[in-house]
Amino acid sequence: MTAKKVRVGFFDFTGCEGCQLAKVSMENELPQILEHIEIVNFREAMSEKSWDMDVAFIEGSITTPACVERINRIRQAAPILVTLGACSTIGGINAIRVGRDLDEIRQEVYGDKRYLFPSLPVMPVSAVVKVDASIYGCPPNPKDVARFLTQFLAGKIPQAPKYPVCIECKLQGNACLLVQGIPCMGVVTRAGCGAWCPSKGQFCYGCRGLIPDANLDALRISFEECGLSQQEIDNKLHLFSGRELEKLS
Ligand code: SF4
Ligand code: SF4
Ligand code: SF4
Repeated sequence: MTAKKVRVGFFDFTGCEGCQLAKVSMENELPQILEHIEIVNFREAMSEKSWDMDVAFIEGSITTPACVERINRIRQAAPILVTLGACSTIGGINAIRVGRDLDEIRQEVYGDKRYLFPSLPVMPVSAVVKVDASIYGCPPNPKDVARFLTQFLAGKIPQAPKYPVCIECKLQGNACLLVQGIPCMGVVTRAGCGAWCPSKGQFCYGCRGLIPDANLDALRISFEECGLSQQEIDNKLHLFSGRELEKLS
């Protein structure tokens, strides 16, 4: 007898839709994974839609009252809800505006033009509904998405690591960029990407958000030693983790 396929829905909120492209980039793993799942809702790829699903993957932040209504509807329909990417998991790059005056930003972006949607302060999905698991990153590493789906199909709900990117960076045998005076965020950033950026000689931007108990004071001292001003350090920290920093303050 053929095993019943897992019914999966993908839903996008405020984001660039790059997380959804990360799934399509799993060319090696995708054919095998598709043998075990049935996609029932995916605006980017199909016109038919069903709300009868086993798991919902959510991309994008919650930024309007309409988002709040829709995510509640999805939560009611899906027994398991997984956030996909930085925007839905931690607020992500949309949260760069946290701590700034919303009216001032509206004036800067729209000037005297009308805008269609009233915006709320940027929220990760977990600020509105219960989240069962999260896939971090902007965009998520396709290998991380494939690993998640493989474990999920084996009956587990995988949880992300709580240790920093530095651990994976050391395992890759990379020379540390921070000690060379390059301001790398790996020391305070949640692992799981396999130290994707430092392994290619690029500093970590912190796209997977902060680890619990991140030592931000020590990071600030290191970044000052790299020659960054306080404003530049703030900008780096706020690039993806504006919402997390707000919770810490
Ligand atoms: S997490 Fe990054 S790639 Fe994904 S929707 Fe947000 S901005 Fe785009
Ligand atoms: S390069 Fe970055 S991620 Fe790698 S060990 Fe140094 S600080 Fe950590
Ligand atoms: S190294 Fe940093 S910026 Fe690059 S993917 Fe990993 S967490 Fe994101």
